[in-house]
Amino acid sequence: MSALDGLIVLVVEDHDFQRHTVVRMLRSLGAREVLEARDGRHAITLMRDALPMIADVVVCDLDMPNMDGMEFIRHLAETESQASLIISSAKERALLSSVEQMANAYGVKLLGVIEKPVTRARLDGLIAKHKAPTPEALTQSQQLALIAPSFSLDDILRGLEYQFEPFFQPKVHIATGQIVGAEALARWRHPEYGIIAPYAFIAPLEHSGNINALTFAMLEKAAVACRKWRAAGLNCNVSVNLSLASLSDTTLADQISNTVKGAGLALNDMTLEVTETIAMTNVAPALENLTRLRMRGFGLSIDDYGTGFSSMQQLTRIPFTELKIDQSFVRGCATNAMLRPIVESSVEMARRLNLKSVAEGIETQDDWDALKAIGCDVAQGYLVSKPLDESAFVAFCLAHKAAAPTGAR
Ligand code: C2E
Ligand code: MG
Ligand code: MG
Repeated sequence: MSALDGLIVLVVEDHDFQRHTVVRMLRSLGAREVLEARDGRHAITLMRDALPMIADVVVCDLDMPNMDGMEFIRHLAETESQASLIISSAKERALLSSVEQMANAYGVKLLGVIEKPVTRARLDGLIAKHKAPTPEALTQSQQLALIAPSFSLDDILRGLEYQFEPFFQPKVHIATGQIVGAEALARWRHPEYGIIAPYAFIAPLEHSGNINALTFAMLEKAAVACRKWRAAGLNCNVSVNLSLASLSDTTLADQISNTVKGAGLALNDMTLEVTETIAMTNVAPALENLTRLRMRGFGLSIDDYGTGFSSMQQLTRIPFTELKIDQSFVRGCATNAMLRPIVESSVEMARRLNLKSVAEGIETQDDWDALKAIGCDVAQGYLVSKPLDESAFVAFCLAHKAAAPTGAR
């Protein structure tokens, strides 16, 4: 049975001969239906008009008149089509790699890139990666975005009184497979809408000057949870995200230290994660706070490394203990020739600066294997586990410990 059995494929290619060749290949491989378009504009019209006959897979050239491949990808994302995409092109690898990034950034499911000429084997191999969309294929945030309404600041502040809690996502030491910590990620357990992820409440809290209410609730709950894990014999550290908006108040370090101490956790069992866009904020008080927090024993992590400004400068100014490589570089690093060197050099830089390297967003075994080969210290991602509520996290740790992993996940 071919990977193409029963699929509807759309081929977008301006060159008649090449388009006919690909269409023939797809038909002979068993596609249910093959649609053809001469450029992006024609393809978008077809996709709209062909409803409900929606393409499962689109094979698209880059260099076309009227609407080129890049613009088509943007429109494809806007149609909210669930089609997977294959790019075919004769352009050089570096260019294809940035188109790949762009497609990912637009949220288009990219199966891969074929350097022309297209072959049957390559087409079949890439289409085999196509999965019909299932609710599980969506990220937690995307699933929630489908159902969650937007909330007013008043709703959020009322919710903050009793309904917010940290979920915990395991961080695993890659070489030994042991769980070494967890990142606390804020969740709103809404009585009507269920679990709401941070996209719905962080920005309104930050913009209205109310983010500290969340920060301190998270610090306290995460500290209490971590104290209990340690008392139960789980050798875990906990990480909490700090908003840059909080760092301009120079009393912050004292307030954080008191909250965590008050919850009974040793300060060096907690790591505080800050994003590297700190360069854009009020630098002097932020430096004062972060240096004081480090002096007191907190670990300091530079989050989403590689996405902000002046990353290198931040590394020299702030006494970080951990470098978290952003998921946009980690996801696909095993196969994407442009991502891997970025991950390699981030890990190498962390090593030289004596920082722990953490890769976030690991979803596949291939990426795990690549990071292990590169020598990254710690992994966090859906491959190990999604963020879990506290009791599910403890159960996960106990089951993981009982399985006594040695060197593997
Ligand atoms: P972050 O600190 O970079 O956290 C990692 C995000 O990536 C989390 O999203 C996590 O669920 C998600 N993630 C982890 N592994 C994977 C994976 O393999 N695949 C995919 N697709 N996603 C993965 P989440 O929980 O939605 O949080 C988003 C952001 O919200 C966080 O990014 C952080 O910046 C912010 N945030 C969360 N909790 C807090 C908080 O208590 N305070 C503040 N200030 N910000 C928070
Ligand atoms: Mg984080
Ligand atoms: Mg991050």
